[in-house]
Amino acid sequence: MLSPPALSCAKRVLVRGPLFATVNFLESATMFSERLKSLVPYTPGEQPQDKKYLKLNTNENPYPPSPRIREVLDGLDIERLRLYPDPMSTKLREKLAVKWGLNKDQVFVSNGSDEALSFCFYAFFGSGTGKLLFPDLTYSFFPVYCSFYTIPYETVPLKDDFTIDLGRFLEKPSCGLIFPNPNAPTGIHVPLEQVFSLLENYPRDKVVVIDEAYIDFGGESAIGLIQAFPNLAVVRTFSKSMSLAGLRLGFVLAGERLVSALFTVKDSFNSYPLDTLAQLIGEIALEDETYYRSITEEIISTREDFGRELAELGWHVFPSKANFVFAGKQGIPGKKIYLGLKERGILVRHFDVDRIRNFVRITIGKREDMNRLLTVIREGF
Ligand code: PMP
Repeated sequence: MLSPPALSCAKRVLVRGPLFATVNFLESATMFSERLKSLVPYTPGEQPQDKKYLKLNTNENPYPPSPRIREVLDGLDIERLRLYPDPMSTKLREKLAVKWGLNKDQVFVSNGSDEALSFCFYAFFGSGTGKLLFPDLTYSFFPVYCSFYTIPYETVPLKDDFTIDLGRFLEKPSCGLIFPNPNAPTGIHVPLEQVFSLLENYPRDKVVVIDEAYIDFGGESAIGLIQAFPNLAVVRTFSKSMSLAGLRLGFVLAGERLVSALFTVKDSFNSYPLDTLAQLIGEIALEDETYYRSITEEIISTREDFGRELAELGWHVFPSKANFVFAGKQGIPGKKIYLGLKERGILVRHFDVDRIRNFVRITIGKREDMNRLLTVIREGF
């Protein structure tokens, strides 16, 4: 409720003209920075809050998080919320360190892995000679971070079969490298020996960031290479295999100097990006490896069966090591598939981007979800 003086001011502003005039006035005003005017934000997948869809568009896990989380929340002393959280997320980092055979100073945690990626861009890329390199078809947040932090970048084309050729990353001078493994939105994985060979041949004074958001669904992680390569940072998330996209929890495993740099960025931005509940739930989730292994295996086997059935229907399905498949059918534009499925209550993701316009990215749900999708596909668009 506005106070009477504030209300009368607001009325005076409103009577000056129609609403669009007010908006134009705001747009031309000096209240916005030049930085803001040049921003081109990332567009996330649809998160409809109004209508119930079968959501196969943002790579969420179809299974619930570890049931142990419920027990901990039920017993939570809400008094804990009165105080600020641990700004260093010490316990959570210790648990992650134990899990990966590292020490806690080699672990950084963040509010989702997007935040970790953003801090990596800020901390590691953009100085010295050469541009940042990443694949031309990849996580579309990367160019957004480059524009946000004014980091010069160049994209390296995927091969015709959409695999990443890491050799091409060594062909020109660069100020750093980043790629997801498996790549998004293709789901195609680069074998570990190729990652190793890249790191061996890349200057040790420049950072290589590997975004392993989807690695648990069948890929080979580069975490084992961290001790040997102090210029390697591996970014991971609790959103996919740990089924905690709503919690916003990500982490980076890397040498101590890189982790310390990420803390410098974080502490220049927000002392407490991870709330008490996120830290606590993350710790509990890490204890339930058996549960997570079983749901991950189920997703992998559903993916394999679904991919096979789709291929039998004449679709091209790229080999995926992620919790999604990238697929398309010759003669049907990806947008038509996306819209046709949406009309039938199923959301998938379509990218209006050269070379991949004729494909859609389909998250792997439960078996019954994929069967429902196959039924709709068989009926035609
Ligand atoms: N990396 C890739 C390749 C992704 O697809 C996503 C999900 N959009 C993320 C990172 C970020 O995931 P989150 O912020 O939920 O950890």
